[in-house]
Amino acid sequence: MDYFDEFVLREPSIRIQRHIPLDKYTTLRVGGSADYFAEPASEKELSALLTAVKEAGVPVLLMGNGSNLLVRDGGFRGLVIRLGKAFSRIEPWAHGLKAQAGALLSALASEAANASLTGLEFAQGIPGTVGGGVYMNAGAYGGELGKCIESVTVLDRGTVLDVPGGDMHFGYRHSRAMEENWIVLGARFRLEKGEKEQIDAAMRDFAARRKEKQPLNYPSAGSFFKRPEGHFAGALIEKAGLKGKQVGGAQVSEKHAGFLINAGGASAADFLALMKLVQDTVQKESGVFLEPEVRIVGNDP
Ligand SMILES: Cc1cc2nc3c(=O)[nH]c(=O)nc-3n(C[C@H](O)[C@H](O)[C@H](O)COP(=O)(O)OP(=O)(O)OC[C@H]3O[C@@H](n4cnc5c(N)ncnc54)[C@H](O)[C@@H]3O)c2cc1C
Repeated sequence: MDYFDEFVLREPSIRIQRHIPLDKYTTLRVGGSADYFAEPASEKELSALLTAVKEAGVPVLLMGNGSNLLVRDGGFRGLVIRLGKAFSRIEPWAHGLKAQAGALLSALASEAANASLTGLEFAQGIPGTVGGGVYMNAGAYGGELGKCIESVTVLDRGTVLDVPGGDMHFGYRHSRAMEENWIVLGARFRLEKGEKEQIDAAMRDFAARRKEKQPLNYPSAGSFFKRPEGHFAGALIEKAGLKGKQVGGAQVSEKHAGFLINAGGASAADFLALMKLVQDTVQKESGVFLEPEVRIVGNDP
């Protein structure tokens, strides 16, 4: 009997699954299994799980929609906590909307549009959750979540804190949640009253631009690399002659060189090898280091 067997006896309502393949929970569709996997049904269950992992000394990985995660082929030696449907409430507050961490950004943006609130149009096509989006400070087309966040509710080593947006250290794909290992529970978005037709039109425009430019019919994690100061990652990769370059099933997209796609049957090792090839080639050709935007987690087999 291991620690989690005892935990399940103490907390029979909380379901902890074992050996759960993570490829089906990530948009890259690669990755080994998590030793333990749980989707808590409430903040109380989340707290109980976090206390358990602390007592057991087991590593924990928070996951939203898995749209910015590359899990290595050996999987994750610890507990993966996925915040999903049970944490997906979106509701109005005096100056906009508030949402729990598991709410999808697309649902949040739609809710804003339905209420004629402007500020989140850019978020419609980002396939992540509010938790992952705040953690990453997700953004597109000149907007980013940090710009319209009034406050974020986080769990800091067992204590719930309400952190004003101005104290979240939001930067390009960066937030204080990364610095402090905070778990994002939800956020309040400050939005302005707008014209529904204009909001809908902006969303349609962004969606059309994504469809035209991005390989949306292949599994990917969006832009694989961060935008280096003064450059575009995709342009540097294309200039280095790497469009269409393939390692195993991982490929530099023909449509958008900033996207590494799963062209079929890729492993995490294929993506890691392709990432290294792209980094080395671009460094040699342009002298620029491409830092991954995708969060690489887990163990090699
Ligand atoms: C087709 C496509 C297009 C994309 N376009 C964009 C884009 O335009 N702009 C952009 O910024 N991104 C884009 N992305 C990347 C991705 O959607 C975003 O980074 C998104 O915010 C990740 O959210 P997630 O819920 O999927 O997070 P996950 O991938 O599950 O996790 C990402 C990171 O956040 C952490 N995390 C997740 N939830 C929490 C939580 N509740 N508390 C603390 N940490 C947490 C995880 O541990 C991990 O480190 C795109 C991805 C795809 C596949």
